[in-house]
Amino acid sequence: MLKLQNLEKFYNKNRNNEIHVINDINLELPQTGLVVLLGPSGSGKTTLLNVLGGLDKLNQGVIDFDGTVIDKYRSSHWDDIRNEHVGYIFQNYNLLNNLSVYDNIAMTLNMVGIIDKEEIDNRIDYILSNIGMINYRRRKAGQLSGGQQQRVAIARALAKNPKVIIADEPTGNLDSKNTYDIMNILRNISKTKLVVLVTHEENIASLYADRIIRLKDGQIVSDVENKSIGGVDVQLDTDIYLKDLNAVTAFEENNHSFQVFSDEKIDANFNVRLIVKNKTLYVQVDSNKYKRVNLLDHSSEVKIFDAHYENEVFEEFTDINFDLDSVIDESKQQQKRAVISTKEAFKLAFNRFKDPSRTSKFIYAMFIVIAGFVAIAISMIFNVYSIDPLDFMNEPLDTVSFKLDGLTFDEIMALEDEPSIGYYNMAGDVNFNVVLPTVFQRIYGDRGVMIMAALNDTYLDSSKIIYGDPIAHQNELVLNKVLLENMMENSSYQSLGITSVQDFLNIDIEYEVENVDGTKTKIKATIVGIIEESNPVFYAKEETIWMMKTGIGIYDVFEDDITLTAGTLPLDNRELIVRENDLYIPGTTVNSVTITDTAIEATGTFTAADTVPDFLVNLDVLKEAYFNNNYVQPDEVVSLIANDVDESIDVLLADYGIDAVNSYKTLFATYRQMQIVNGLGTLMFGAVFLGASSISAFFIL
Ligand code: ADP
Ligand code: MG
Repeated sequence: MLKLQNLEKFYNKNRNNEIHVINDINLELPQTGLVVLLGPSGSGKTTLLNVLGGLDKLNQGVIDFDGTVIDKYRSSHWDDIRNEHVGYIFQNYNLLNNLSVYDNIAMTLNMVGIIDKEEIDNRIDYILSNIGMINYRRRKAGQLSGGQQQRVAIARALAKNPKVIIADEPTGNLDSKNTYDIMNILRNISKTKLVVLVTHEENIASLYADRIIRLKDGQIVSDVENKSIGGVDVQLDTDIYLKDLNAVTAFEENNHSFQVFSDEKIDANFNVRLIVKNKTLYVQVDSNKYKRVNLLDHSSEVKIFDAHYENEVFEEFTDINFDLDSVIDESKQQQKRAVISTKEAFKLAFNRFKDPSRTSKFIYAMFIVIAGFVAIAISMIFNVYSIDPLDFMNEPLDTVSFKLDGLTFDEIMALEDEPSIGYYNMAGDVNFNVVLPTVFQRIYGDRGVMIMAALNDTYLDSSKIIYGDPIAHQNELVLNKVLLENMMENSSYQSLGITSVQDFLNIDIEYEVENVDGTKTKIKATIVGIIEESNPVFYAKEETIWMMKTGIGIYDVFEDDITLTAGTLPLDNRELIVRENDLYIPGTTVNSVTITDTAIEATGTFTAADTVPDFLVNLDVLKEAYFNNNYVQPDEVVSLIANDVDESIDVLLADYGIDAVNSYKTLFATYRQMQIVNGLGTLMFGAVFLGASSISAFFIL
């Protein structure tokens, strides 16, 4: 009947809180019989039931429903199957309380296209008589007891004559008498149909199931025929009745009470120590005989009863005849309709409105919704006056950019002399790893990658630093508060102990710098300050930024860390120094290192600690090499950081014929326009909705 293959389902997939709720489930269920899914709460019973009954989607795997194959791509097949072939029974009955028993069932039949009055009456009467509910035919569902409502729910599920009935804890809210009655009905139904039932009660499973499938953590842990079916002795191994045991010892002192119960004479020595530390209770058992300690807490399956065991009252199954096929007239089965009829819908709606408190509640709710729309719209429109660049920018706000168009490196550098222009900024972002405090390092994946645009510390406005200090040395950074907050949200930092932005202070970040032989040296930098401003960047010394960006060591940064052992320092732009033994042979021409396709001559060697990269260049030569390597196409975009955006754009155009733009201004205008358009749209919608609602409210009242 039902075949499940490699079923998988996750909640919150690929997030920290991912739950593998169905874990590779393979199952074949027969045409008839009562199959019970048993397991502790949270084991995935409901999810599995809903997936196999088409109420929930699967992530992976295949379901074969009586020949129709369903997988995650072909889930639309479910719609027809669900309507016609699956009946649902829930713990809380899910009846429409304002409708009569008859109408509740008739509506389900309408939904599957059965609208012939006689056919409907035949089916309903037949089922209701068989479950002892015929006298309640006209009663409103809301006026019935729980047991009666569940009977109606069963009748409703059964009326369309489905192939499968799925029931999720159908007796969860019922007393034992009603539980037995309902289970009896389901048991009888299972003679001709497949009934899949979810429960966490062992008793129910062992009394009624043909087959018991135990689930734990989304996996099947056992799948067996139920041998004890109908058996009267339902005492379970996991139940312990204290009164049936010998109370061996019992004493009480200082409000602590200790008791020992046993089902045998205890002749072995055993000493037990209870230790409480860090809110945890430890049990130490010193005994040759009792090695296994089974700790009982709220999650254990073992139940302790302070009583004698008594046989559960169990009545033999009463036979109920559900030969539905005998009353069904197939010719009355109409075209499929997945929706209820217009008449039915009106009846339903009208029933709701007959209740005056519902009407006024509804009208209030409507006005609240409308007020909500209007408020959102107005706030959207007013928001344009307080747009935060952090919402849409990811480069420095004062960037002016233009197409390279044949300009040389020297020409670009010359632009830095303009008072309105600050400096040439390489395009794009810098990325680096965050090194979390040692105490957290044991946890796998303790490094987070940050990618941010950088700005020279000369642009840092110290008055906006909210935690920590401005930048004083190389390899110090000041980070933007909002960027850190975003990062915290999107990563596991919180679980690693970084719970507020201040926790980032004095934390090291790490980036890599190349060596001559292709290996890399890790360089550390420290977060010394956190700034609150709308510029979506972090700040560092220019040399640090270039090192992070290009992965090439800069001489100025390590000036104090090295000892020159031969040759000269890199005084000229075309020179560099290398670590001793690396490749420097005085007086030859092999002494060069290729940096981004430019060969730079080595003029000296040094010794230094391992933390220093193996070769060091001057910043200017690095800039030029980087420029020449990266800006080869004429339509490449060059970015400058402006001291005065408007003026720099004017100057560039007037004096150099360069057409530059500031993306912040362009993006800001677009963003604002979008906000206004959206806001107006929402406002209009609110207005139309208000009009329509007022008219209908008028008629309703
Ligand atoms: P059972 O019916 O056996 O008690 P469920 O199938 O309801 O178990 O749930 C199994 C697990 O999946 C539980 O840990 C539950 O918290 C989780 N879960 C259920 N529904 C959702 C959901 N919609 N989103 C996230 N987790 C869920
Ligand atoms: Mg459940």
